[in-house]
Amino acid sequence: MSTQPGARPQTRPPVDALAHLELPRLDALTEQQVRGIACVWNMRHQPLTAATAIDLGVRPASRAGAPVSWYPRACRRCVHENAYAALLRHAEQCGDGCREDAGGCDTGRTLRHLMREHRP
Ligand SMILES: [Zn+2]
Ligand SMILES: [Zn+2]
Repeated sequence: MSTQPGARPQTRPPVDALAHLELPRLDALTEQQVRGIACVWNMRHQPLTAATAIDLGVRPASRAGAPVSWYPRACRRCVHENAYAALLRHAEQCGDGCREDAGGCDTGRTLRHLMREHRP
């Protein structure tokens, strides 16, 4: 929703932006990554602490055929890099100016915001 002037509760990144980040498959991860001890994008980025971890929100996933709620976490640098990758992916198929980098659409702005917020 972009039509709400004044509604800006911005202490954490909007969940929408996080939903655009592409996560690895749950099956491909180490136990530490699944449990949020290591960065979801790179198992060598660990241990994540309360101070360094970025919560990526809850994701529906399945493990051994059973549905589970997954709370992936990542480090700052990877969130930044993946926000950038998501922005590039989005810009390629966005008809709203994201390709030209001129403000763009809500999705583009939200992803840019996420990048800025997690600049390494
Ligand atoms: Zn990382
Ligand atoms: Zn766009």
